[in-house]
Amino acid sequence: MILLDGKATSNQIKEEIAIAVTKRKALGKKIPHLAAVLVGNDGASMTYVNSKVKSCEVAGFKSTLIELDANTSEDILLNEINKLNTNDDIDGFIVQLPLPKHIDEQKVIMAVHPDKDVDGFHPTNVGRMALDLPAFLSATPYGILELLERYNIETSGKHAVIIGRSHIVGRPMSILLSQKRTVGNATVTVAHSRTKNLKEITLQADIIIAALGIPEFLTGDMVKDDVVIVDVGITRVDDTTKKRGYRLAGDVHFKSVSKKASYITPVPGGVGPMTIAMLLKNTLLACENKDIAN
Ligand code: NAD
Repeated sequence: MILLDGKATSNQIKEEIAIAVTKRKALGKKIPHLAAVLVGNDGASMTYVNSKVKSCEVAGFKSTLIELDANTSEDILLNEINKLNTNDDIDGFIVQLPLPKHIDEQKVIMAVHPDKDVDGFHPTNVGRMALDLPAFLSATPYGILELLERYNIETSGKHAVIIGRSHIVGRPMSILLSQKRTVGNATVTVAHSRTKNLKEITLQADIIIAALGIPEFLTGDMVKDDVVIVDVGITRVDDTTKKRGYRLAGDVHFKSVSKKASYITPVPGGVGPMTIAMLLKNTLLACENKDIAN
């Protein structure tokens, strides 16, 4: 079994990005600038946003964190988004999800200008991606593609089973893996909450991407030998033995599945850090796109 080390791979990608930024500086070009909007004080969201901002420093980017109160109205948030859309110094920005219930997430996603949508959630980018056109790829599926590529994992002609059909992970992942691309050309099955006999399906999979958000759902008896496992899930599970009172659990029962897998991502240290690295890569791309436009 080989561990798909997302932490080490993401550090390598961040170093590559930092080199590109240094070159831009030397040429007198603009430094990439990423902004993040955080509404409320959800613990997990704060952790994610802070590590995104910290990673900007590592890569030599400028970063701006906009923190808004949990009671912020939808109109005020949309106004902030509009300011970011029109601010020339900002190359890309994200609005950390989930948002408080009184805010319409879809409306917010639609408000982000597609050229600055480095999360790749706007319908323009999702549509372009689905049509094989250049687009900002949703950072988590993009990170998974990059991880598989850097470990030279063959996907062509393989049966990939994606568990979960969310707009940010399962759905784009299923499209990307089925496309004609370096990491692609797979035969894809999308499983979801209404799927019957999931075990029969997962037992046929050469590659499984688990993105359902149920801790340790995929167990060793559900997979065949030499399967490639990508565990997207991150759930906080109560654990009194830990100082912080919880541990992070993936969607895969690592102990039993790793005995059969040829490759497997750990949680933490797998998909999570890759997501952040690809967000930076998208921001660098947004900045480079401006060079071309100007
Ligand atoms: P989501 O809740 O939007 O979607 C979950 C999907 O799982 C749904 O499509 C649902 O149909 C499916 N599902 C639920 N129960 C199922 C079952 N019993 N069998 C088969 N399918 C089932 O979740 P999401 O936003 O895609 O996130 C999934 C997990 O990935 C969460 O733990 C989330 O925290 C994590 N996540 C991690 C990263 C990262 O960077 N590592 C990024 C995004 C999400």
